[in-house]
Amino acid sequence: MCYYMQISARMLSWPRCCACCGGAAESHLRAVASKSKGTRKVVTTSSWWEIPYCHRCIEHINRLQRARGISGAGLVIAILVALAVAAISESATAAWIVGLLTAGLGLYLGQRETSRVTDSLAPTCAGAGVAVEHRGWYGTAHDFVFTSKSYVDAFRSANRQKTMSDVRAVS
Ligand SMILES: [Zn+2]
Ligand SMILES: [Zn+2]
Repeated sequence: MCYYMQISARMLSWPRCCACCGGAAESHLRAVASKSKGTRKVVTTSSWWEIPYCHRCIEHINRLQRARGISGAGLVIAILVALAVAAISESATAAWIVGLLTAGLGLYLGQRETSRVTDSLAPTCAGAGVAVEHRGWYGTAHDFVFTSKSYVDAFRSANRQKTMSDVRAVS
């Protein structure tokens, strides 16, 4: 379960506690949103906010991103290996078998690492991934998705003088 909301402001106050577990914030991670404009000359602009986190939560977020990278890298390696096997053996069947096995191994390793990260979470953690996602903006209106209910509540009370939408629960 995640919590979506929109808020309109030039400056936002981020409660000084970890956006994931609610513990003392020791550092921060950037929540970046990008958008592209134009068809001939594409201009990409980014907007970001520094989200407070504790060290332990930054660690599990980074580990989860690496775990997802393993599966993706496995797929790229599988294609290269399959092409090499096809070139050497001239057998499409052998290339398919080796490619699928390699891709499967990458998926397995990535999934194993993902469940290790999930198992290592503190009971107070809202999730294994980033706790605040910046989905985009229109002028001064910013879209956010939070994973922690208590952090979204703290964020709303810290910014109560600003214009904001209701919180919508999304799965
Ligand atoms: Zn934390
Ligand atoms: Zn956490």
